[in-house]
Amino acid sequence: MIDLTFPEQYVDILPEVRAFLAEEHRLYIGGRWVPALSGATFETSDPSSGRLLARVSSAQAEDVEAAVQAARQTFDSGAWHLKLTPSERGRLIWKLADLIESRAPILAQLDALDNGKPVSKAFKVDVPLSAEHFRYYAGWANKIEGATIPVNTVGMLNYTVREPVGVCGLIVPWNYPLLMAAWKIAPALAAGNCIILKPAEQTPLSALYLARLFEEAGFPPGVFNVLTGFGETAGAALVAHHGVNKIGFTGSATVARTILRNSAESLKRVSLELGGKSPNIIFADANLEQAVVGATWAIFGNNGQSCTTGSRLYIQRSVFDRVLTGMAEATARIRVGMGMGQQQPDLGPVVSAEQLQTVMGFIDEGQGSGARTVIGGRRMGGELANGYFIEPTIFVDVQEQMRIVREEIFGPVVCAIPFDDADQVLRAANETPYGLAAGLWTRDLQTAHRFAARLQAGTVWVNTWGDTDAASPFGGYKQSGHGREMGKEALDLYTEVKSIWIRVD
Ligand code: ADP
Ligand code: MG
Repeated sequence: MIDLTFPEQYVDILPEVRAFLAEEHRLYIGGRWVPALSGATFETSDPSSGRLLARVSSAQAEDVEAAVQAARQTFDSGAWHLKLTPSERGRLIWKLADLIESRAPILAQLDALDNGKPVSKAFKVDVPLSAEHFRYYAGWANKIEGATIPVNTVGMLNYTVREPVGVCGLIVPWNYPLLMAAWKIAPALAAGNCIILKPAEQTPLSALYLARLFEEAGFPPGVFNVLTGFGETAGAALVAHHGVNKIGFTGSATVARTILRNSAESLKRVSLELGGKSPNIIFADANLEQAVVGATWAIFGNNGQSCTTGSRLYIQRSVFDRVLTGMAEATARIRVGMGMGQQQPDLGPVVSAEQLQTVMGFIDEGQGSGARTVIGGRRMGGELANGYFIEPTIFVDVQEQMRIVREEIFGPVVCAIPFDDADQVLRAANETPYGLAAGLWTRDLQTAHRFAARLQAGTVWVNTWGDTDAASPFGGYKQSGHGREMGKEALDLYTEVKSIWIRVD
């Protein structure tokens, strides 16, 4: 068991973190730290205060070229997938997990500073889940098997092997910087691929620290490369490059469409984990105490900045007022504050000024179009005025066609909608282009199974919300994505299947 007690002293910035922030931040290519060839840099700042944290290198097309060459060379040499045994690869991945765990306070502080989330949350959630993720796939490294196929030809042996895809460009978002990177890196490594990681421009720091841990663990140079930079430059060049065999992407549907267009020429493999507008349904027969707490954290956990966030809350009419009153009370108790605050808050700010503007735009539009806020609805001032803090917000009196009901907000905003019967709410729940997650709260076995079967989503939670596990597949129906991460399914994203025929008779 990992010890998850949060040591109080971790709200003070550690000397190692201070030293790390003060360094020059380069790109990690072929096992070496190099500045962007153009010398370009960009700033990353702390959304709790707006304060500058560090300047990091801004990779351009020529840096992408260098990283692809390095990763290709390592891959083509077989230094990772052929010259090491699968068990040796597994041991290295496990060692990386140990290093992540031993540096948990540093990694947690880097994500808390860069993203704004409470450091206690990063320490208890993001970092241990990342370490666990690497361990799970370390175990897969020597279990990726093919099959012997009984083909219909006399004297013929046919078997399959699963080979790595090659060089994988992994493009990740800012909401769980380390964890979203781990979700992709771990299965890609276990399958024998070489990796170029492009962290989000809002949160580049933990990826750079992770590269140090790869060095320390002793991975062959070129297996893992990090390009910090912007989506439109570094990301786009990675997507278009013919030397990249696969793109693994988590982010918005809009960017995913650009990625599919830009990858068309090279016809590379692309897997996508995108957004959602996840329905969360509370039936009158549910354990309402549990449902109230569950629905509150389904939306406000990580400040609504999760792709699965339960942002459309359907409540059966007979318990609508009761549930809402409970949620408003629970929401009023949520403590919002600085990620590194001495009194650790429940929630930090949203990630950037841009995100603040987007979320406040949705809130203003909702209020302007006749929706009513039960609680929240404002940017927070006082000592939080320099950061990007938004009150957790619950809307009622919404109409299905409003943008706040239809579009992903990716912030702490939920729409509560009453319903009368099961068929009506099932139709409403599925009436969205998205299909990442859905949930329901009920004590009725038949309702639970019926909805689990009919909700169009990659994950369905019953009487719970937000659970994920390295062993359980995760991904989207409809416009929420292509492919499944986690579990043994993720290995399909990072392997090719080869069928081999040998005449033996
Ligand atoms: P968000 O809108 O939540 O910031 P995005 O989908 O814009 O999410 O970003 C997710 C990741 O995709 C980030 O690493 C970002 O830099 C990258 N990205 C953005 N635009 C592009 C693009 N045109 N090509 C490749 N990657 C991109
Ligand atoms: Mg930042």
